[in-house]
Amino acid sequence: MMDYGKIIDAIYRDLNTWERTGKVADYIPALAQVDPQHFGISVQLLTGESFHIGDTLKPFSIQSISKVFTLAMVFHHLGEDLWKSVGREPSGTPFNSLIQLEQEAGIPRNPMINAGALVVTDRLLDDWKNPKEELLSFVRCVSGNPSLSYDFGVANSELANSDRNRALAHFMKSYGNIHNDVNDLMDVYCHQCSLQMNTRDLAKSFQFLVNRGVNPWTGNELLTLSQAKRLGAVLMTCGFYDESGDFAFRVGMPGKSGVGGGVVAYIPNVLSIAVWSPALNPHGNSTLGIEALERFTTLIGNSVF
Ligand code: GLU
Repeated sequence: MMDYGKIIDAIYRDLNTWERTGKVADYIPALAQVDPQHFGISVQLLTGESFHIGDTLKPFSIQSISKVFTLAMVFHHLGEDLWKSVGREPSGTPFNSLIQLEQEAGIPRNPMINAGALVVTDRLLDDWKNPKEELLSFVRCVSGNPSLSYDFGVANSELANSDRNRALAHFMKSYGNIHNDVNDLMDVYCHQCSLQMNTRDLAKSFQFLVNRGVNPWTGNELLTLSQAKRLGAVLMTCGFYDESGDFAFRVGMPGKSGVGGGVVAYIPNVLSIAVWSPALNPHGNSTLGIEALERFTTLIGNSVF
């Protein structure tokens, strides 16, 4: 049996001595306050065992990682129709870029860039009565942690600084690809980004993907087998914005990052791993997080390839 505890211990000890290169996200003022020294790693096996090192109990804002949960909810609900309003090609552009939207008639390249995630959240507003409450109960359910919540300070800070995301939403609305009032959409989107988790919660919350669509904590099917495959493929090709190719090359796992410094990735049927280190590289991904994951798949000699 692989000694995952020893492996993450070695990675942590070495990387924790590194200078934190990069900077914390400061375009959302509440995130600019976060100490860049935080560093934690959690591994969750499908067998139920878990391993942790560093700051694994301190909650942080999961930001764009929340896009995976809304996508799972909406994809399961709409099925293949979802792909009429959002694509599944890597964008090669930054997470909040507007540039492709005009050429591509308001259809975002994929659901992991902000434009695509806004479309997905808009569909949540279409068909769910209380999207914020229902998203929270989905996340509590997949993480097995009934006390997870939004960070209202972060949500309000982001709402007050959401001009770029509003621009994306209004632009897509002009093409008919956003159905709801942009203020209502921003309210749900900024709350979803403010979801607070620690690395333990985060690693657990990806177990339904490790388990190919079935929540191992409850036995409920959240995605069909085919949908779990498709969602994993989107994460592999689009989960790290314009660094997705490099992440796949270095790490070899599907995953997702957020500008709060969280990164989570998984190997189907085996494990999920979450890392938190708030200092971000120029692509908006955690510098230490990616380095830790590259070392992890190298040391365990396993990945999806
Ligand atoms: N809330 C962030 C935004 O919409 C999410 C970006 C990210 O985590 O990559 O700008």
